[in-house]
Amino acid sequence: MNTLPDTGCEEAESAVGARSRLRHTVLVRVLVVEDERRLAAAVKRGLEAEGFVVDLAHDGVNGLHMAREGGYDSVVLDIMLPGLSGYKICEQLRAERNWVPVLILSAKDGEYDQADGLDLGADDYLTKPFSYVVLAARLRALLRRGAVPRPAVLRAGDLSLDPAARVVRRGSVEVPLTPREFALLEYLLRRAGEVVPKAELLSHVWDAADEIADLNVVEVYVGYVRRKIDAPFGRHAVRTIRGAGYLVAADGG
Ligand code: CA
Repeated sequence: MNTLPDTGCEEAESAVGARSRLRHTVLVRVLVVEDERRLAAAVKRGLEAEGFVVDLAHDGVNGLHMAREGGYDSVVLDIMLPGLSGYKICEQLRAERNWVPVLILSAKDGEYDQADGLDLGADDYLTKPFSYVVLAARLRALLRRGAVPRPAVLRAGDLSLDPAARVVRRGSVEVPLTPREFALLEYLLRRAGEVVPKAELLSHVWDAADEIADLNVVEVYVGYVRRKIDAPFGRHAVRTIRGAGYLVAADGG
């Protein structure tokens, strides 16, 4: 990491400013969507003191627009917002395959609220009141991970599986699966486009305690899954790679 050149005027800088300059050699742009203006301004000041460049949106509609168009490195979202909730903003961004790291910041602190936010594709969750040092540290951790694809809903073509809602669909048609079939398909979809060996499926989808678990049971369950998600729709997404295992075609066909 490079530091900025010595300007010879360090004495004029605050300790915080000097620390921030050392920490960030590249400007990191953060969008904060928060309707309580005094809090929004305080968050902006707090993050700027940590070296971030911060823009504010005060309602959900504007927040979504700026998150889409602004090229931010990270987005901090309040949940209860006029126009569009933080949940909806997050859900919409992920539906558009926008993987900008999202941290939800909210007064709602129930564990279900947190789970909802994370299931909708948020990356982290911090409850109010919070420390700016912690917020900045969490943001830096998200930024290190970057905006890699991490879909909340798994897809292969028109086949989709929502792990949180426990729903599988072929196009718009909901396909009921048993828990085991669901787990099997989820595992294959997480590795879509790759060959997954039968033994790997057996060890991840079946408990070691399952006495019936042998490789034949994998074949049987793959058959069940095909009869539900493929055959009625004239597809063959779940392919057998002879001697190697199974593969879900990335295009879901
Ligand atoms: Ca609010």
